[in-house]
Amino acid sequence: MDNVMKAVAKVRSEYGSFEVIEVPMAKSPGDHEVKIRVETVGICGTDLSIYKWTETVAREYHPVFPLIPGHEFAGIVEEVGAGVSHLKVGDKVAINPHISCGICPYCIQNRESICENRPILGCHADGGLTQYLTVRAKNVFVLPANVPIYLGSLAEPLSVTVHALERVQQKSDKAAAIVGVGTVGLLQYIACKAAGYEDIVLFGLDSDQERMELAKRMGAKTVNIEKEDPYIAFERLTGQPKADVVFEVAGTNDSITFAIDLVKTAGKVAMVGIAASYTPIDTTKVVFAEKELIGVRAYNLSTWPKTMEIIGKIVPQLELLVTHRLSLAETNKAVELLLKRQCLKVVIEPNAESLAGREGR
Ligand SMILES: [Zn+2]
Ligand SMILES: [Zn+2]
Repeated sequence: MDNVMKAVAKVRSEYGSFEVIEVPMAKSPGDHEVKIRVETVGICGTDLSIYKWTETVAREYHPVFPLIPGHEFAGIVEEVGAGVSHLKVGDKVAINPHISCGICPYCIQNRESICENRPILGCHADGGLTQYLTVRAKNVFVLPANVPIYLGSLAEPLSVTVHALERVQQKSDKAAAIVGVGTVGLLQYIACKAAGYEDIVLFGLDSDQERMELAKRMGAKTVNIEKEDPYIAFERLTGQPKADVVFEVAGTNDSITFAIDLVKTAGKVAMVGIAASYTPIDTTKVVFAEKELIGVRAYNLSTWPKTMEIIGKIVPQLELLVTHRLSLAETNKAVELLLKRQCLKVVIEPNAESLAGREGR
């Protein structure tokens, strides 16, 4: 038993193929490494793409099968290697899954988000859907004491939204818009609120109705663009006709076009959403009004301490986001829930036994 552990792995390069397997126990940590007992793993759209084995995934990731997915995870420090001073056994921690190289021109500028050589745990290399994982210590961050461990896996997507805020460099901005109401849209709302935006409006579709209700429970202003003129609604809700900054998190042709229209002259659009295909845009709208389109990819190492500060202050909102807590053996059920959009955030708890039926609040 001590030499093996359970994991969920993508076992073949074809649709589906997520299986519970036994793998050798994670190794003891070497220098500057720690071994983590994984307590929570968030399942997101990227994991669905790995499940489906989309063209992009097949082109971008070249894993050796079986590959253990899971890039949003948190747990408890089980063992500490030599040379690690900021962590101790028993610490409750979240993990930055981007193993940035530290030597490329971008890493040298502390811009690890665009590192040229950074395997991502759960995408290129084995990730968190397992009981234990040994990982580079500088990628491990202590969670505030008041954050329940099952919410720790939200630190990763939250870091993306915190990095979006870093990229737009808010100064006198007052009114923000968020286009898209999935987990990232809602986290972007929470992050914007924590950053001090006075007016934040979330835009969604008929199919987002439940998510918009949830956003309202968090105190957000929402607009269903299929029911109401979004520009009139934005002015009614904020007192200004256009947004100072727009966070585009949906990544569809329509949402990107709308985000560019909605931002004011000389305003900024943070491009967070990953488009599934080529997106044509009207560049004259960008040129004539000197709008700025700003790419946002993941986060830097320096983003994570900021996330750790914010996450302790937003526990009640995060609790609303997690709709299901499932066991490792129920990972395929989690995927089904996501494919059918019957959930918001689903987390897998690899070391919790008999969690069946313990669903969210
Ligand atoms: Zn993710
Ligand atoms: Zn690098």
